[in-house]
Parts: sequence; C-alpha cells; structure tokens
Amino acid sequence: MFQPLVGMDLTDLAAALSPSQPGYRARQIYQALYQGQAGDLVAISTLPLGLRQELAERHALGLPTVDRVFESTDGTRRYLLRLADGRTVEAVLMPEEHRDTICISSQVGCPVDCKFCMTALMGLERSLTAGEIVGQVLLVARQNQLRQEGGRLNIVIMGQGEPLLNLPNVVKATRILLDPAGFALSPRRITVSTAGIIPQIAELGREPVRPRLAISLNASTEEQRQELMPITRKYHMKDLLAACKAYPLRPWEKLTFEYVLLNGVNDSDADARRVLKLLAHLNAKVNLIALNPGPGIPYATPLPERVASFQAIVRRGLPCFVRKPRGLDIYAACGQLKSHSQSATGPASPPSPEHS
Ligand code: SAH
Repeated sequence: MFQPLVGMDLTDLAAALSPSQPGYRARQIYQALYQGQAGDLVAISTLPLGLRQELAERHALGLPTVDRVFESTDGTRRYLLRLADGRTVEAVLMPEEHRDTICISSQVGCPVDCKFCMTALMGLERSLTAGEIVGQVLLVARQNQLRQEGGRLNIVIMGQGEPLLNLPNVVKATRILLDPAGFALSPRRITVSTAGIIPQIAELGREPVRPRLAISLNASTEEQRQELMPITRKYHMKDLLAACKAYPLRPWEKLTFEYVLLNGVNDSDADARRVLKLLAHLNAKVNLIALNPGPGIPYATPLPERVASFQAIVRRGLPCFVRKPRGLDIYAACGQLKSHSQSATGPASPPSPEHS
C-alpha cells in the first residue's frame, strides 16, 4: 500500500525521507503539497527527479479522485469524491460574488442520528484521516483554480460526519490548512460545525491552532432538541450552552449557532423568542437555514414569511442571518448526493453528471 503524502505535516515528511536527504527537503515537499496544490507527485519540479521517483516508489500523493460532479444552476458544485479504499465522501463548492466556500466532510457517514439529516440515514462507515480532510480542500481548490491568498476562500467542515468525533484528525488537518508555511489560510476562514459533543468542545478550546466553532442548535427547548437530535439525551442542551459560555473565544471571534427551520416543528415565534433567550448572554451570531428536504426526511420547509418572522425576533438581540439554500436542484442537503447515488429508488433523478 502506498502511503499518502497529503495529510503529512513537516515532522511526518522528515520521517518519511531517507536520512541521506538534506534537511530542507521536507519543507520543500510540504510547500509543494499545500501551498503549491501539487496534483502529481512526479511533477513537483522543485525536487530533483531522483527524489521524486524514490518517493513515488513508496508514496502516493493521496488526493481523492472525482467520482462525479453535479453543477447547480446557482453555481454550486457538488463533488462525490472517491477515497483510496473505494469509499466516497462529498465536498461542495459554493461560489459567491466576494467569496468561495468549500464545505468538506469529516467522516464517511455519521453516527449522530439527527432526524432531519440525510447523512444520518447512512450511519457511520468510518472517520476520515487528516489527509482525506485536507485532500478534499486541495482537490476542489485545484479543480476550480481557487487560491488561498486574497481572502476569498472559506472552508466549512459541515459536510458528512461529526467533526468533533474525529477531533485529532480534524485538528491536524486544520493545522496544515492554517499553517502560513502550509495551505496558509487565515484562522477566520475555517469553521467547524458540531452537533454538540460537549467534552470535545472544551478540548477544541484548548488547541492553540483551531478553526472557528459553530454549534448546531436546531431547537429551542431541551425536549424538542432531544427529539430532533437524540445525541442531546447524552449531551444536554443546558450543558452545551454552559460549555459555549466557557469556550475561550479569540478577540475577533463569535460563536455561530446554526438552526435548521422545520415547518411547524421548531419555527414558531415562541421558538424564536426562546432561542434569543438561550443565546442572549453569549457572544454569538445565529445562522438560520430552512430545511433542505429530501427522501426519507419526515419534515417540510417553512415558508419564507415564517423564516423572516423568526429572523426578525432573533435579530432583536443577536446578529441573525438566513443562509441561502444552495444547489436545491442537485440534491444539496447534507448527504443527499451520496444517498441518491446509492439507491435506485430516489425521487426524480439529479441532473446528469458533468464528468463521470
Ligand atoms: N455534524 C455536524 C456537521 C455536519 S451537519 C453538525 O451537526 O453541525 C452541518 C449542518 O447542516 C448542521 O447545522 C445541520 O443541522 C445542518 N443540516 C443537516 N441536515 C440538513 C437539512 N436537511 N437541511 C438543512 N440543514 C441541514
């Protein structure tokens, strides 16, 4: 089995090289992998050809391959990416006027059983390695000529999986993405989203290099949250909010709370008032998203007026934004593309893949 280079930090690379290599080689490879977004090991022209060949005998570059791409009329591109063991994960590029956001996965499937989420229906297959997490960013950036400089590029770890149940690999990947000698993104430009794994929130807060933190709240009472997000039976909302209060924010940072609006379930004005009350004492902002519906999801999307009313109430006390649903025509909800490609009995077919 060829050992992948993507995902290695400087220490790993130095250890992978033979002792006869000069000390600066590890740094050269590191730069080529992450700053240079290398697409082919043998094409890394800063290295002597002999070394490239030697590396290629033992290592693969380790980028995922593109299994399928779907392009939405709104410009969103969904990638179904194939990993070395044949499993697939999703990454999504959402281009906007002033920024590009790549949404990446942290696990194949997910063990957290949220009732409105398509990925939950798959269960957990396995966690991703640091290389597979970074590899999604490198692949999508390369395919779309996105550069890390210039402050346009944002990464959100909000695809398949629960990132805080794969924290060591998420942290290692984040370090590489944020390292000025690595992918060199600003720490403001990576966000990790959690369903609320409380011990790991504290652990993340102790990391010197870490992404911004978003919490998927999705309910306004303990009971409602237990119903929608069974993980709350283990990690109570009250304790989650206490962990948020104790979370060490950097001077420029706010916590983000995400809230999926489900028609007639958690989207009333009373819910909005409760959300405001729950979060008012935190340095936070709220992102609302109307449900992206999908097969097997027993909820409906609220009307825009309902979303607007909810937002207006939360806005009385906190910054509150409505996230535009993206790529509805290409099955944009979490996990939809993969679920659809695995089942023969989905509803309408998504549009034909751009590449196959
Ligand atoms: N497990 C992590 C990250 C993956 S889910 C978490 O829970 O945060 C990323 C976000 O997508 C979460 O805020 C989740 O609530 C939201 N989400 C999941 N399914 C959705 C759907 N069908 N429509 C809209 N948002 C959804």
